[in-house]
Amino acid sequence: MKLYVDPGHGGNDPGAQGNGLNEKDITLDIAQRIRSILLNDYEDAEVMMSRTDDAAKSLSQRTNEANAWGAQFYLSIHINSGPSSALGYEDYIYSGLPDSAATAKYQDFLHEEIAKLNQLADRGQKRANFHVLRESAMPALLSENGFISNAHDSELMKQPSWRQNVAQGHANGLARAFGLSRKAAPAPAPAPNPAPGPGKLYKLIAGSFTSIENANNRAASLHSQGIEAFVKAVTISGKTWYRVQAGAFSSPENAQAHLGQIRQAGYSDAFLIAE
Ligand SMILES: [Zn+2]
Repeated sequence: MKLYVDPGHGGNDPGAQGNGLNEKDITLDIAQRIRSILLNDYEDAEVMMSRTDDAAKSLSQRTNEANAWGAQFYLSIHINSGPSSALGYEDYIYSGLPDSAATAKYQDFLHEEIAKLNQLADRGQKRANFHVLRESAMPALLSENGFISNAHDSELMKQPSWRQNVAQGHANGLARAFGLSRKAAPAPAPAPNPAPGPGKLYKLIAGSFTSIENANNRAASLHSQGIEAFVKAVTISGKTWYRVQAGAFSSPENAQAHLGQIRQAGYSDAFLIAE
């Protein structure tokens, strides 16, 4: 699924401002989190961002880019503003669409999943003639994630955990709308204390991945901490796993001690295999 994520505003256009916050910063943070969740947790998500930093970009540039790329969904992230008493969440699809449009169904999914996690008052599902909704060639939704002008909503916006939940709600809605499949969980770790036996070799696996890119990233991370490691492909039940091996030991005690060190260094998914 090709998703275009559009953090509203940017550069010399801060968007709405209030309670010490700029809309452009909150929208960028939420959008980055949406991208990370989709790329980390789902097999079939491709993400293009209208901006990945504090850059200025016109509305036409954004929709032209999404159209040229052939995005299958356009998701625009915004923060609302109004009188200090106004608060809550709402989302928009294009006003010119018939009720039977697929976009209306996608809005149902997104709205429901976002509202579950965002701790905001629900202002409902709406329609508008906004540029990004009208000029995008694919289904599009614009979410207004609370009011920057409201004390309650803006207090939430300052919390990274809230921004993560809002991003997760968007990702959950997209996963439902497009039937995205989750990535397989890592291979189950064998028993932590393999029985000693003659001629056995205890391999210390500091992570096992279905993606070679993730495995290479893990090996690089280990190297940066002074731990030697290499990536080896193995096939288990017809599926290829990329194991990051960080040592092999003939003594189980020795292997166990190194496993403890690796876990201490933050690689809690490390495990031993006896061969
Ligand atoms: Zn905005």
